[in-house]
Amino acid sequence: MGRKLLSGQRMTDIIPREEWGAEPARWTTNQKRPVDHVFIHHGATLLRDHSQEGEAAIARAYQRYHFGKSWADIAYSFLIGLKSGRIYEARGWFNRPGATKNWNHRSYAICIIGDTTQQVISDEAVRAIHNLIKEGIKLGYILPDFNIRGHRDVKNKDCPGHTAYSRLQEMRPDVETVVVPKLVPPAFTKPLKLRWPRNRSPLVKWVQAVLGLPLNGDYGWLTVQRVKAWQKENGLKPDGIVGSITYNKMFGE
Ligand SMILES: [Zn+2]
Repeated sequence: MGRKLLSGQRMTDIIPREEWGAEPARWTTNQKRPVDHVFIHHGATLLRDHSQEGEAAIARAYQRYHFGKSWADIAYSFLIGLKSGRIYEARGWFNRPGATKNWNHRSYAICIIGDTTQQVISDEAVRAIHNLIKEGIKLGYILPDFNIRGHRDVKNKDCPGHTAYSRLQEMRPDVETVVVPKLVPPAFTKPLKLRWPRNRSPLVKWVQAVLGLPLNGDYGWLTVQRVKAWQKENGLKPDGIVGSITYNKMFGE
């Protein structure tokens, strides 16, 4: 039986907020999608009762703790039972998380309920995170070439604990197996050209994909050189600028 989530998606495997007794968020900020990062966290509190009620009690404690810091809501996007692998909706797909300073606008934050320094994350939990991310990619909320990192890679040195941190790559879905919905390139607005700071319009990755370049999203030297070569091959003026003519040739029907 499907359950109603904040995000509007009906899925059987995510426990919605009302089912774990979450308080409503004090405010929310819409998350810009797709994101290019997923950060793994842990709550750093020992989880002794692995029943759904035991996990939910800890989840509510995290939320109270974050409200106590005057935050909008529990900081994470989703929570995962350390042993059970149950998935709990926190801020979900649509609302910006608040758990990874400087990275929240471009990431989801998945938090393992428990202490992965002193407790071992289960295979079920690793698989649950893997499946959740895969779902996010299918929905178009996470870029297929996203980065998975631990909170400790950007800040808190102990988060998550080593039992989870050592398994990050297993949490990452194999990109080949993910069916990406047909996406439409952003409409042409302004020409892409070399400048500083680099042009990081969403169109850049589309151009890089056409050129077979790594999708770093920066309209830099390498991309410009490849655009010039591509323009030459396609009978256009090789100026390295993606104007409307080059755009239409690349993405037109
Ligand atoms: Zn953390």
